[in-house]
Amino acid sequence: MPQQAAPQGFHTGLFVNPAAGRRADFKAACGALFSHLALVDGADAALALPALAALDLLVIDLERFDPELDHAGLARLVTARAGAPTFVLCPFANARWLPALMACGPVEYAIAPLGEAALREQIGLRLAAGPTPAAAPSPREQELDALQALRARVRQALGAGEELAPLAERLCQALCAWPGVAHAALFYLQPGGDLQLQAQAGERNLNLAKVLGRADRLLQSPLRHAFPGLLAAAGNTIALLDDLDKSGEPALSDALREHGVNMVLALPIPSNGPGTPRGSLCLSFRQARSFARDELAALAELADLAAVGLRMADLHRESEEMLVRVTHLSTLDALTGVANRRHGETLLEQEIRRARRYKMPLALIAFDIDRFKSVNDRYGHPVGDLVLRAVADCAHKLVRASDVVVRAGGEEFQVIAPHTSAIDGLKMAEKLRTAIEATAMPGVDQVTVSLGVAQLGEHESADSLTVRVNAALGRAKRAGRNCVELAMG
Ligand code: GH3
Ligand code: MG
Ligand code: MG
Repeated sequence: MPQQAAPQGFHTGLFVNPAAGRRADFKAACGALFSHLALVDGADAALALPALAALDLLVIDLERFDPELDHAGLARLVTARAGAPTFVLCPFANARWLPALMACGPVEYAIAPLGEAALREQIGLRLAAGPTPAAAPSPREQELDALQALRARVRQALGAGEELAPLAERLCQALCAWPGVAHAALFYLQPGGDLQLQAQAGERNLNLAKVLGRADRLLQSPLRHAFPGLLAAAGNTIALLDDLDKSGEPALSDALREHGVNMVLALPIPSNGPGTPRGSLCLSFRQARSFARDELAALAELADLAAVGLRMADLHRESEEMLVRVTHLSTLDALTGVANRRHGETLLEQEIRRARRYKMPLALIAFDIDRFKSVNDRYGHPVGDLVLRAVADCAHKLVRASDVVVRAGGEEFQVIAPHTSAIDGLKMAEKLRTAIEATAMPGVDQVTVSLGVAQLGEHESADSLTVRVNAALGRAKRAGRNCVELAMG
């Protein structure tokens, strides 16, 4: 049935807005469409009117209303209409009103600002359409099916892994599959407070980083009040730019239109607690379209799902970092900071395999502090600890980056030296001996070490190599200490 402009002057209406100027403007633009038009400044005044539900059209102009302060009153007003035609003019940067009001009863809307002629046309159409049928058959069933499918895809995208970058990427790809969506993007507020374009998908030639002039520090972007993706993240609101020109940024609208985009919708991704959102989901559509209550609710649910995804990515990152820290701690000796015995054993096995594969020599040096018991006895255990640390430091500084110093237990250490033959191992051991002998030890005159050196045999195990090197060390002790002995083959 073709809709015609309403015959003038047969309808009763009510316009609600706190600003006298806007009420006067509405009357000037649309007054002629009504036989009786009441103008009031808020929900209380509207609710005080008799036969509110009998009016042909209620128009709520949300400009100047405060979503926090006025929501309860306006929600009561929509409820009081009991399903009678209600039309909301919603500022594009504050579209979070819509799902909240739609939850109270059937509400149709237009995104403001609207020109005078466009407003008259919209109001005329609403009056011509008459009362909303009680049980409106859903002309959007197909769209809801599409939403259902979208939700499933988003869930799938979230379930497939936990790292932020691929997760954001998959989420955007899933959103693009929704009919009409040309491009989807995810803006992410970094823990440090930097809003970044984390991922985008869809229309290949549309690069939001280019359109916005950059991909990071977006909360400081001059377009943060104009582009829905930024508005949603900065203002914690749904932003719906159904006509690009409403952004007031001609260069922005031109750039988007050039890529076939005519409408942009963005939803904040909620954070777990109060405060700024985690970011936003930003959908660019080829054609402007309006959304039914269920669709907006479903979109908000998608944003919630995205929030869960981001939280998962956070936890994943935190646990990876924790794992690295714990692994690091569990491989080091607490007193000296060199590798502990267990880790030393693992590394030795690893280096033996590598030496075999590349047919390279491997040397193991074992050394033990001479008469260390008497250091403890004379100066006390704490001084003994300092000496242990100084000896480990000295060895650690002396060896190559590819060598590993291990505290094998008590006052015994090892150096695992890849690419090192017995001869080179002997030279290295001698260098260690003289360096430790020359090092000023805290609170003690001097300490010396005895050392054993062994080169890995062709088919030798780690255990056998260790036994041989310790035997060489034992011989160095028996030979009078502060000397180096080479292990027998
Ligand atoms: P040798 O020249 O034969 O090696 O004589 P030594 O006294 O060094 O050898 P012995 O095995 O008799 O004594 C080792 C001492 O090292 C005994 C032990 O108390 C001490 N020790 C082992 N671990 C630590 C530690 O973590 N801190 C301190 N301060 N002493 C330790
Ligand atoms: Mg000793
Ligand atoms: Mg010992």
